[in-house]
Amino acid sequence: MTMQGDTSQRHESLVPVLDRARYLAGFRTLATVVLVVHAFTEWSTWQVDPLQVVGIAAAYAALTWLLAWRMREEPNHRGLTVLNATLLLDGIAIGLLAYWTGWMASPLRYLFVVHALAVTLGASFRSGIKICVWHVLVVLSLAEADAVGVLVRPAGQASGDEPWWFLGLTAAAVLVAASGAWVNERDLRRNRFDLDALATMGSRFEQLDSPAETARVAVEAISSTFETERVVLFEAAGGSLQPLASVGSVGPVAGLSSDIGSGVLDRVVTSREIVLAASLSPRDDVWLASLLPAATNLVIIPLVADDAVSAVLVVEHGPKFGSRLERRSHDMILRFAAHVGLAWSNAMMAERIREIARRDGLTGLFNRRAFDESLAMELDRASRTGTAVGLAMIDIDHFKRLNDGHGHQVGDEVLRVVGEVLREESRRMDVAARYGGEEFAVIFPGADTADCTLAGERMRSALAAAAGPVPITVSVGVASVRASASSPDVLIRRADDALYRAKAQGRNRVCTARPASPVRSIA
Ligand code: GH3
Ligand code: MG
Ligand code: MG
Repeated sequence: MTMQGDTSQRHESLVPVLDRARYLAGFRTLATVVLVVHAFTEWSTWQVDPLQVVGIAAAYAALTWLLAWRMREEPNHRGLTVLNATLLLDGIAIGLLAYWTGWMASPLRYLFVVHALAVTLGASFRSGIKICVWHVLVVLSLAEADAVGVLVRPAGQASGDEPWWFLGLTAAAVLVAASGAWVNERDLRRNRFDLDALATMGSRFEQLDSPAETARVAVEAISSTFETERVVLFEAAGGSLQPLASVGSVGPVAGLSSDIGSGVLDRVVTSREIVLAASLSPRDDVWLASLLPAATNLVIIPLVADDAVSAVLVVEHGPKFGSRLERRSHDMILRFAAHVGLAWSNAMMAERIREIARRDGLTGLFNRRAFDESLAMELDRASRTGTAVGLAMIDIDHFKRLNDGHGHQVGDEVLRVVGEVLREESRRMDVAARYGGEEFAVIFPGADTADCTLAGERMRSALAAAAGPVPITVSVGVASVRASASSPDVLIRRADDALYRAKAQGRNRVCTARPASPVRSIA
C-alpha cells in the first residue's frame, strides 16, 4: 500500500473510495432498471420520451462504472471529487425525472429517499446528511421553477401535494439512518485507530532488539493509544518485579521491596490472570501504591513466556473513565499486551543469544571476539575524548606442567577460578576476557601506564592468593596508549612484549611496556 493511498483513505472515509464508486454505480444501474419498469407500466405519465431518458440513465450508469474502473487503475484524489460531483448530479436527475412523471404524485420521487439512504450507509453519515440537504434544495428549486413558470408540466397531469410532507419524511429517514451509521462509524474508526496503533507498535518492535527499547516503545504505544494516566511495565525475575519503563508520573520505590507476596501483584503473578483494580490497598499493595500514588482503575496483566510470568503490565485508566473500563478498551489493551509479551520475550531471547555469543563457555568471561570488538570500541571512544586505554595480558605460568601433573580437568577448574578472580578484580567498565588457552586480557578504559600497572599487580597477587585446586602464579604485561597514537594491534603487541619480558625475568610478575617508539619515517 502506498503512503498516499493510505492517508487519503484515512482522512476521507471509512469505506474505501473505490468501494463507494462501485456501490454508487450499482445504485445507478438499479435506478435505470426502476426507470425501465416505470416507463413500461406508467407510459402515459411520461412527459418526455421515456426511451430517451432511459437511454441517458443507462449511459450515465455505464459512465460511473467506467469511473470506478478508472479509480481502480489509478487511485487518486480527482476520482473522489468526480464521485462527489456525480452525487449532486444524481439529485438533479432524480428531481427532473420526478417532475416529468407526475412530480409529488410520481413514485420516482422515492428515489430521493433511496439515494440519500444509499449515500448515508454506503459512504458516511456526514455525506448522507449533506446529500439530503441537497435533495431538499433541488425539490424546492423545482417547485419554485414550476411556480414561476420556468418549467411547465402538461395540463391535466396530477402534481400531487405540496412537497413539505415528502421532504420532512425524507429528512427523518435520513436522520435515523445517519444516527445509526454514526454509531457504527465511530466504532469502526476507533477500531481502525487501535489496529493501526497496534500495527505501528508491531513494526517498531521489529526494528528493535534490546529489551529496554522494547519496553519503552510498548508503554509509549499503550499510553498514546488509550490515553491512559500511567503505564508501567515490570520485569518479573527471581521472585521480584523491576520497573522497566513507564509513562506518567511514577513515584520512588527505593528502600521498599517489590511486594509480590501480597495484594494485586501476587494475584496476577500466581493466578496468571488479568486483574482489574478500582484502587490499591494501602496495606497489601504498599510497593505498587508508592510507585503509583492515588492510582484508580488499574488493569494489571501478566505477560507469560516459556510457561512463566516474564513481565507484568500495569495500565492506569484513571478517574476520567468512570469506575468501569469500556469493554472495547479492555479487549484492545489485552491484544496490545499479547503483542508486548511476545516482543518482550523475543527481545530477551535475542539478548540472551547475543550474550552467549560474547561469552567464553568455560570461564564466563568475554570471549576473543567480544574482546576484539570492545578494544576497537574503547580505542575509538578514547580517540574522540582524548583519554588513555590500558591493557593487561595475563598468562598462567607453567600451565602445561599443571595440566600434565594434575590432568586437564584440574586445569579447567584452575581456568574457571582465574575467570572468577579476574571478574571480581575488574571495575565495572573494565573488560575481562579469555584471550585464548590459558591467556587472559583485561581492558582498562581511561587507565594510563601507572594505573594499569597497579591494576595488573592487584590481579596478579589476587590470582596468586586464589583458593583454587592448585596454587598458581601468573605473568602480566601491561601497556597503555593515548588512542590517537594507536591501533588495537599496536596496543596488544606492546602488552604482549611486556608479558614475554615478565616470563623471561622469572615469571609471577608484572612488566610494563616501554614507552611507544616514535614513528620513524623511511628516509
Ligand atoms: P609459560 O609459563 O611459559 O606460559 O608455560 P605454559 O606451560 O603455561 O605455556 P604453554 O603455552 O606452553 O602451555 C599452555 C598450555 O595451556 C597448553 C595447553 O594444553 C593448555 N591449555 C590451553 N587451553 C586449555 C584449556 O582450555 N583447558 C586446559 N586444561 N588446558 C588448556
Ligand atoms: Mg602459560
Ligand atoms: Mg600461553
